[in-house]
Amino acid sequence: MRVAICGGGVIGACTAYYLTRRGINVIVVERTEVAAAASGKAGGFLALDWCVGTPLDKMARRSFVLHADLPPEIGADWAYQRMTAYSGFVVADDGARRHARAKLNWLSQSVIITDRLGTPETTAVVHPRKFTSAMMSAAQRHGALLCPGRVTGIVRSADGSRIRGVEADGVTVEADAVVIAMGPWSMAAAAWLRLPAVFGQRSPSLVYDTGTDVPADALFLEYRDESGTITMVEVFPRADGSTLVTAFSNQTALPSDPATVTPEASEIDRLHVIAARLSPAFRPERIIARQACFRPVTQDGLPLIGKVPQSEGVYVATGHNVWGILNAPATGEALAELIADGASRSTDLAPFDPARLRPLIPSPLPLS
Ligand SMILES: Cc1cc2nc3c(=O)[nH]c(=O)nc-3n(C[C@H](O)[C@H](O)[C@H](O)COP(=O)(O)OP(=O)(O)OC[C@H]3O[C@@H](n4cnc5c(N)ncnc54)[C@H](O)[C@@H]3O)c2cc1C
Repeated sequence: MRVAICGGGVIGACTAYYLTRRGINVIVVERTEVAAAASGKAGGFLALDWCVGTPLDKMARRSFVLHADLPPEIGADWAYQRMTAYSGFVVADDGARRHARAKLNWLSQSVIITDRLGTPETTAVVHPRKFTSAMMSAAQRHGALLCPGRVTGIVRSADGSRIRGVEADGVTVEADAVVIAMGPWSMAAAAWLRLPAVFGQRSPSLVYDTGTDVPADALFLEYRDESGTITMVEVFPRADGSTLVTAFSNQTALPSDPATVTPEASEIDRLHVIAARLSPAFRPERIIARQACFRPVTQDGLPLIGKVPQSEGVYVATGHNVWGILNAPATGEALAELIADGASRSTDLAPFDPARLRPLIPSPLPLS
C-alpha cells in the first residue's frame, strides 16, 4: 500500500511518521517546504487538560503524552520542555501599578500576574518548525519520500471506482490512498471532494532571541491600549532561547501561495510596542523573525479527521485551529490506524468525522 500525503505541515509530517512506523509506503507532496506555514510559525505551546469539557479532550491528553515520549523515541532535539503558564493583564497607569506587583522578576512592573494556569506537569512547549522537520526526517528514515509539488486534484481509475493518486504539477503521483493535510489550503480540495469549508485565521508574531533572560513561563495576558481596546497577548519562551510573542487574530483572505504569507507592517509595529511593555528582554535589536500565519479553522471549530465521504481511499486531517501542534501526534497515530486497520483505536475520531458538516460543494466536480 502507498499513501500520498498532501501537505508537509505538522499534521502531514506526524501522519507520515506513524504510517511509516507501521511499514506503509508514504510519499509527502509539499508545494513550498516542510513547515512553511503555521506549523513553522506557531507558538508550540502544549497543554494536557485545556480542552476539558470539549470533544478534543481525549485527543489532547493522548497527544500531550505522545509529545513527551517522542524525543527519546526519535532521538532528536526540537526544544521540548515542560513549563509553567500564567494569566494576567498589563496596566497602563501608575495608579494601578502602585496596587500590584508582577510576581515574575523578568517582567516589567506593568505586568500583573493573576493566575497560574498550568504547571510543568500539565504544560509544555516545542519549537514547532524543529518538531515538524524532525517528524518528517524520522518518517524519511523509515522510508517516506518527500516530493516537491503543488497538488491540484485527485486521480482515479477510468471507471472512477479506485484511487490512482494525486495530480501534482501536472504529473500523477501514484498512490492507493490519499490524505489531504494542506492546512487552510485544504479548502482547494473542497472543489474536488465532498469536503466542508476550511478557513484561515491570520495572526502576526514576533520572535525574539532572548537567550537565558526569559525562563519557561508562558503568558496569556490582557492588554488594554490607550483607546481602551483589549487585546489578548500570548508569550511562548522556547528551550532554544527564542521567545514568540503573538496577538490579534483576523479572517483575511488566504493567499493562494503559502510562500507569500507576510505580516502587515502596522500589526508588527503594534506588537512590538506591546512586547516592549512586557519585559526589557523584548528589545528591537533582539527580533529574529517578523512573521504571520494562518491557522486552519472549520465551521464548528473542531478538526476534520477521517474518511472523506463518497471518496473511498481519500482521508482528510485539517482544521486543528489553535491546537494543531499539540494534537498532531495523536492525529497522525489515529489516522495511521484508520488507514492501515480500518479503525482508530488510540483516539476516537467520531467527533471529527468530516461527514458531520455540510460539504462546500454538494457534488464533486469532474475529476482528472
Ligand atoms: C500565531 C499562531 C500561533 C499558534 N500557536 C500554537 C500553539 O502554541 N500550540 C498549538 O498546538 N497550535 C498552535 N497554532 C496552531 C497550529 O500552528 C496549526 O493548527 C497547525 O500548524 C496546522 O498544521 P497543518 O499541518 O494542518 O497546516 P499548515 O501548517 O498550514 O501546513 C499545510 C502545508 O500544506 C502545504 N500546501 C498547501 N497547499 C498545497 C498544495 N496544493 N499541494 C501541496 N502542499 C500544499 C503548505 O505549503 C503547508 O506546508 C498556532 C497558530 C498560529 C497562526
